[in-house]
Formats: sequence, structure tokens, C-alpha cells
Amino acid sequence: MSSISDNVKRILAELPEGVQLEAAAKTRTASEIKEAIEAGVKIIGENYLQEAEKVFPEIGRIVRWHYIGSLQRRKIKKIVRIFDMIETVSSMEFADEINKRAGQLNKIMPVLIEVNSGKEPQKSGVMPEDCENLVRRISTLPNIKIEGLMTMGPLVDDPEKLRPYFKLTKELFDRIKELELPNVEMKYLSMGMSSSYKVAISEGANLVRIGTLIFGPRKK
Ligand SMILES: *Cc1c(COP(=O)(O)O)cnc(C)c1O
Repeated sequence: MSSISDNVKRILAELPEGVQLEAAAKTRTASEIKEAIEAGVKIIGENYLQEAEKVFPEIGRIVRWHYIGSLQRRKIKKIVRIFDMIETVSSMEFADEINKRAGQLNKIMPVLIEVNSGKEPQKSGVMPEDCENLVRRISTLPNIKIEGLMTMGPLVDDPEKLRPYFKLTKELFDRIKELELPNVEMKYLSMGMSSSYKVAISEGANLVRIGTLIFGPRKK
């Protein structure tokens, strides 16, 4: 098996210009994450606050930390403190709490709006048809800055099947960008994981979240 360092260098070498790599680090140790950083990773994505709290003190702000897990109200205070971006905002309720906690820290929290591009009832994310309205409402909050969209898409066997969901999210991204709303800067379109990042990039992703392909299969 190739090393974390080799994997990162190979992926970075093949990513088109303008596409940023985010290492999805759930279940990985601080030393694994450090190896990825030494090989050139600049953004770490974490799904769980508890895991981030374990590795963050050892690594610090030499990289940017993105929260990519589901939000819980009581964890938002700490999430806002540690993370440089929250990619999974999909309701006004959580946005209000992020705004409040960021305000207490004198911080303006960059966020992405997570879109439920597959319209799956059990999945998180705002429904595509409600996205623009949510962006408009969140954009009025002074301590939040919307910087783009994120989507997962449904679980499929063939990454090609994700193409319509990536396409839909890119269309939403472009449409909201054209509105030129105050306090909204549509910079990041976060889509694609280990199996699907190439399809995602061909549909306009400029931030790809890759775990397995960097660190190997997860143990738990
Ligand atoms: C785990 C995870 C990824 C990366 O998944 P891999 O298939 O291991 O590349 C990307 N995004 C989110 C939100 C994740 O939870």
C-alpha cells in the first residue's frame, strides 16, 4: 500500500488548477493528519467535534479546519471556536446559533450551505428549491459569511450516477452567485469524495473532500 504522503502528492499533482484538496480526517490520528499536511494538504475536514478536539491541539492553525459533520446545537459554541469554516449549514435555527456564538467571539464565521441534492428524506441539507431562500435569510446575519455550497449526494455504486446531483448543485451555485447578495460570496463548491471527485470536478467542484484515497480504508 502506498503511504499517506505518496497519496497526497499524487492527488495534488492531478487536481486541475483552482481545485483545492480537503483531507477528510474522521477516525485518523494526529500523526496521520500531520503526514498529510507535510505532503501538502492545507485543509482538514472533521465530522466530529470530539475528534477535532483531540487532534487540533497537536496540529494547530498551520492548516484550515473545516467542519463537515452534522450540527448539534449544544456543540456549536465549540465548533465556532475551533473551525475556520462550517460546510454543513442547512437551517436558520443552526445559523442563528452560529451567528450568536461567533458574535460572542468577535468572529465572522465562513459557512457553506449544505444542499440535499438527492432530496432524500433522511439526509441532511436544505432542499434545492429552498436553498435560495435560506441563503437570503442567513445573509442577513452579521457574524456569518456565506461562501458557497456543499453537497454529498445519494449513496450510489457508480460515481457517474452522482453527476445529475452535482450538476443541480452547480446550477444552484451559479444562480445564487448571480444574485450578488450582500454578505454572500460564492467562492466554494464543495462536492466529491474518494470515489466521485473526478465526476464532481467535471461538474464544477472546486473543493473536494477526500479521506480513503489519502489515508486508506477506515477501521471503524
Ligand atoms: C468521510 C467523508 C468524506 C470522505 O469520504 P471518503 O470516501 O473516505 O473519501 C467526505 N465528505 C464527508 C462529509 C465525509 O463524511
